[in-house]
Amino acid sequence: MSQHYFDSEKTTHKRFELPGAKPHYNPDRPGQVEHIFLDIGLDIPKQICYGTCSIRLLPVRNGIDRLTLDAVNLQIKSVGVDEIEQNFEYDGEKLCIHLSQPSKIGNSLLIAIAYAAEKPQRGIYFIQPDKHYPHKPTQVWTQGEDEDSRYWFPCFDYPGQLSTSEIRVRVPHPLVAISNGELIETVDSGEYKTYHWSQQQVHPTYLMTLAVGDFAEIRDEWQGKPVTYYVEKGREADAKRSMGKTPQMIEFLSEKYGYPYAFPKYAQVCVDDFIFGGMENTSTTLLTDRCLLDARAILDNRNTESLVVHELAHQWFGDLVVIKHWSHAWIKEGMASYSEVMWTEREYGEQEAAYYRLSEARSYLSEDSSRYRRPMVTHVYREAIELYDRHIYEKGSCVYHMIRAELGDELFWQAVQTFVQDNAHQTVETIDLLRAIEKATGRNLAFLFDQYVYRGGHPDFKVAYSWDGDANLAKVTVTQTQVEADSKDLFNLKIPIGFGYKQNPKLTTFTVRVHEKEQSFYFPLTEKPDFISFDVGNNYLKTVKLEFPIAELKAQLEFDPHPISRIYAAEALATKGGLEATQALSSALKNDPFWGVRAEVAKQLAEIQLDQAFDGLVPGLDDPSPFVRRAVISSLSQIKTHSSYKAVKNFVQHGDESYYVEATACHTIAAIAATNLEDKSHEDKVIKLLKSVLEERAGWNEVVRSGAIAGLAEFKTSEVALNIILEYTKIGIPQPLRLSAIRALGKISTGQTAANIERILDRLAEIARETFFLTQVAVLTALGQMETRKAIGILQSLANQTTDGRIRRYAEEEVAKVQNNIGTDKTLRQLREELDQLKQQNQELTSRLENLEAKSK
Ligand SMILES: [Zn+2]
Repeated sequence: MSQHYFDSEKTTHKRFELPGAKPHYNPDRPGQVEHIFLDIGLDIPKQICYGTCSIRLLPVRNGIDRLTLDAVNLQIKSVGVDEIEQNFEYDGEKLCIHLSQPSKIGNSLLIAIAYAAEKPQRGIYFIQPDKHYPHKPTQVWTQGEDEDSRYWFPCFDYPGQLSTSEIRVRVPHPLVAISNGELIETVDSGEYKTYHWSQQQVHPTYLMTLAVGDFAEIRDEWQGKPVTYYVEKGREADAKRSMGKTPQMIEFLSEKYGYPYAFPKYAQVCVDDFIFGGMENTSTTLLTDRCLLDARAILDNRNTESLVVHELAHQWFGDLVVIKHWSHAWIKEGMASYSEVMWTEREYGEQEAAYYRLSEARSYLSEDSSRYRRPMVTHVYREAIELYDRHIYEKGSCVYHMIRAELGDELFWQAVQTFVQDNAHQTVETIDLLRAIEKATGRNLAFLFDQYVYRGGHPDFKVAYSWDGDANLAKVTVTQTQVEADSKDLFNLKIPIGFGYKQNPKLTTFTVRVHEKEQSFYFPLTEKPDFISFDVGNNYLKTVKLEFPIAELKAQLEFDPHPISRIYAAEALATKGGLEATQALSSALKNDPFWGVRAEVAKQLAEIQLDQAFDGLVPGLDDPSPFVRRAVISSLSQIKTHSSYKAVKNFVQHGDESYYVEATACHTIAAIAATNLEDKSHEDKVIKLLKSVLEERAGWNEVVRSGAIAGLAEFKTSEVALNIILEYTKIGIPQPLRLSAIRALGKISTGQTAANIERILDRLAEIARETFFLTQVAVLTALGQMETRKAIGILQSLANQTTDGRIRRYAEEEVAKVQNNIGTDKTLRQLREELDQLKQQNQELTSRLENLEAKSK
C-alpha cells in the first residue's frame, strides 16, 4: 500500500518538523555551576514561591563580565555576587547580570538572586480545593523537564550543567515537604515547619524538585536506604499495593546496570493533577495519584508496575548518567521503556516480555504510520518537549532490545554496565553508548544505529514460502516493501529463519543476510517442514506479512514456540479468511497456553466475515484471564448480531471482576446496538442501561463509567445520548469521568444536527478556557474528531494561547485532522455505509455456504 511507501524524496509520511522548527544547541558555558541553593517560602493561597536562589559558579575563563540566566516571568528583586549588589537587566525570560568584577579562573562566584514567582504558569503547581472540588487536597509540586525549572527559580536551564543542590523550604503545618537527597534538618516554628534537603550528587536543574502536601508516609527500605511512598492519607494500602515492589526493583536494576543505586534514599510521591504519568526527579520521583490501584484494579492493570520501574530506571539512565542535550533523550527514555520489558521478563517470564515488546513496537508503528516519521536523534524542533514521543520511548526500547539480540545477553549487560560505570555523574550523547559497546565487547554497532537511530523508519517485510518436494528444498522469498529497489533506505540485517516440525519443538534455524529489495533463499532439508518461522525470536523491529499456505500457518499458530510468531500466523490466517482459518483460530482461543496469544487471536477472529467467527469467540468470554475477556468483548463490537448483543449485555448487567472488562462491555454493547442492522429498537434500551451504569457504578478512576460514556458516544444521531454526555462535562464531575465526557463530544458530534453541533462547539470553547493540561488535551481530542470548519477556530486559539509546547503541537495536528475530516465527502460516507450493509448480507450467505461445504466433505 502507498501508506507504507517511503523514501527520502517522495515521502508520504508527514514531517516531524512543524513550521518554525530550527536547530537547537546547548548555550556556551561561562563556567561550571558547582552548587544551587534555594532558600524559599510558599504562600499557597496566593500561589507565590519566593526567596533566594544562590548559585556557585566556577568561571571557565578570565574576563567574563556578563552572565545570562534563564528565568521566566519571575520578579527579580536584587542580584548580588559575593555579597556585592550587581546591575542586571531582566526581560521576563533572560536575566543578564553585569559583573562589577570580571571573572578570574579559579575564583568561584557566589550569585545570590532574591526573587518571587507569583501564580507561575509552569514549573511549580499549586493545587487547592475550590467550590467545585471541595475535597481536592492542598499540594504544591514541581515539574522541571524539559525547560520549566526557569519558571520557578533562575538557573542555567539545560541538561549539560550538573551540580549539587539544596532546597530549604518553609511550609505551613501540617504539610510536609519532600525534595532531592537527604533531609538534613527540620525546624518547627509554631505555625510553620522548615524542611532542609541536600542533594550531594551532581544533577541537572530539570531534576530538581519539591513536593508539598499533607501526605501519609509509608516506609520501606533497600539495603538500609530508605524507600518511601507518599500518598494522600487514607490510601496507604493502595500505596503498598501499587509501589510495594520498589525494593525488589532497585535490587534488580542495581544488578543489571552493574551500579548500586546511587542516591541516599528513594522516595515516590503521588500527587494530584499531575501532568505526566511520572517524573524521575533525582531520588524523588513524582507520580500521578491516578496510578494508585485498589484491590480490583490490580487484577489486570500492569501500567502502574511499569510506570514504577520506568521512573526507577531513570535513576540510572537520566539521573546518574545524564543526557547532554534533549536530542539524545532516547538514551534514557528508550532504556526506561526497556526496563519495563526487563522487569516483565523477570516477574512474568519471557513470553510476557516478548508480548510487551510487541505492544511497544506497535505503539511506535502507529505513530510512524499516522503521525510522522523521524530519526530518533534530531536537534531540529520548535520545543524540546515535542521529542518526547513514541519514537524515543517505544522505538528506543526496541532498539535496546536489538542491541541485546545482536550482542547476546552476556555481552549486552557488560556493555550496559560499562556505559553506566564510565559515565556515572556525567553527561552523555548517543556516540558514548556506541563507544561503551565497543569498549566492552569489541563490537561496532554503527550499522544498527545508522539504520534504526539516525534515520527514520523500519523494514516492512513480505515473506513467501514454497516447497520443492523433488529436491527437498524450502524456498523463502523475502521482500522489503517499504522502499523501491536500490534505495539507500533498504535495511541490511542478518535474520534467522527457522523450520519447525510438529513432533519436535526445536526449530532448524539458518541465518541469512537480507539486504536487497527482494531475495529468494533455498534451504535443503531432510523432510518437508510443518511451518516456517521468520526472524526467529522476533528481535528486529519490523512489520511482517506472511504469505504461507494455510496448512503451514495453522501449524505455526499451534506449534511455533515463540508467541509473537504465533500472533503473526494468526494475523495471516485471518487475512485468508474462510472456515478452515476460523476453526484454527477458534481452537487457538481455547488452547493457546499464553493469554497474550489468546487475546490477539480473539481480535483476528472478529476480522473474519463469517458467522462461525462468533461461535469461536464465545468460549473466550469465560477465559480465566481478564485481558482475554476484554479482547473478546471488544472484538464482539465487530459482530453486530443479536447473539453478540446478548452475550455482551450479560457483562454489562452482571459485571465482571475486572473494571476494564466491565467498561469494555459498556462500550461494546453500544457499538453493536448503534449499528445493528437487524433492529434499531436496542438503541433506547442501551441508552437507559448505560444511564443506570452512570448513576450506580462510580468507582476506581471512573473506569467503568468512562466506558459507559464511550458507549453513549456511539449513538451519533441520538440527542438523548448527547444530552447525557453534556451533563457529565460539567465542572464538579469527578475529573477522569469528566475528561471522558469531553472527549466523547467529538465522536458523537459527527451525526448530530446543526443546532446540536453548535451546542457542542460552545461547550468545548468554554472548557478550552480552563488551563489544566489534561482538560485541554481532552478538548483537542474532541475537536480533532469533528467535521466542521468551526472546530478549527477553537483549535487555533488554543494553539496561540497555550504556554505548553505539547498542547501547541497537538492543536496544530488536530487542525490538519479536521481539514481531513471535512474533505471526506458526505455521499462517500453514505456509500460506505451501504457497502457495509451489503457485506453483512454477503457474510450471512457465505457462512451458510461454508457450512454446507463442510458438511458435504
Ligand atoms: Zn521516562
